[in-house]
Amino acid sequence: MEITGLIEAVRAQVKEWRRQGHSVGFVPTMGYLHEGHESLIQRAVKENDKVVVSDFVNPIQFGAQEDLSTYPRDLDADCALCEAAGVDLLFHPAPEEMYAPDFSTYVKAERVSDGLCGKSRPTHFQGVCTVVCKLFHIVMPDRAYFGQKDAQQLAVIRRMTRDLNLDIAIVGCPIIREADGLAKSSRNTYLNEEERTAALVLSRAIFLGEELIKQGERDAETVLSAMREIILAEPLARIDYVEMVDADTMETIRQAKGRTLVAIAVWIGTTRLIDNFILEA
Ligand code: AMP
Repeated sequence: MEITGLIEAVRAQVKEWRRQGHSVGFVPTMGYLHEGHESLIQRAVKENDKVVVSDFVNPIQFGAQEDLSTYPRDLDADCALCEAAGVDLLFHPAPEEMYAPDFSTYVKAERVSDGLCGKSRPTHFQGVCTVVCKLFHIVMPDRAYFGQKDAQQLAVIRRMTRDLNLDIAIVGCPIIREADGLAKSSRNTYLNEEERTAALVLSRAIFLGEELIKQGERDAETVLSAMREIILAEPLARIDYVEMVDADTMETIRQAKGRTLVAIAVWIGTTRLIDNFILEA
């Protein structure tokens, strides 16, 4: 596996692979890799001749009060995981490699970015779209892999890719969970023992909501209030949102219908966690 921090080195390698007729898969990450990232990488390795992973904590997707400086990092462990999973190129740029001092161009997917996480993190998806668009132009992959764990992010990236006519297939991959249900996340490392137990209210609420809809319940308020009840019973938990939306547009719906996303964001102490499910209702 080659490791580089240089945009030009990525371009040169991918150009060479193209000359040899290889297909290229791409998995963008912020590092501190776990089995969730690994599942995306494994899928990319299966479906492409060559795989590029980016490992970059993107400063412009963090709000001023957010956890950019404390976001967990472990490049050695990330390299080991990527190498073992069959990654061909790990791109680990410094922020200065990605952003010129007078950088001033942004990509924004309107409306689809406004609700859910976009409401409490107003500049987040603009930062995500901008960095992913840049990474797409650097890597120029055939396919790019994203987790459904970040369901709104996936919808936003799909929208951007369609709207800007980027010739890249966006592949969504299922949520990978801990044995007890907690969705795997680099941010889980912030939780102390007590908070780690409290964090189970997210997946418990998600599983209940999913079960209710599968049993035939369609009314959003009925489903969401049953979910809220579980979360509110946990003293360490504070709800950011519990919502039902159209899985493609992210617009609020009152009845589960078509591709339906139920998504939640919950503060456990000072850590904000998200979880969701999508089903065809
Ligand atoms: P991040 O490093 O948090 O920016 O995540 C990089 C990619 O991994 C995103 O597409 C995430 O949706 C995906 N991802 C993170 N956690 C999980 C998980 N538990 N299951 C599946 N995909 C995940």
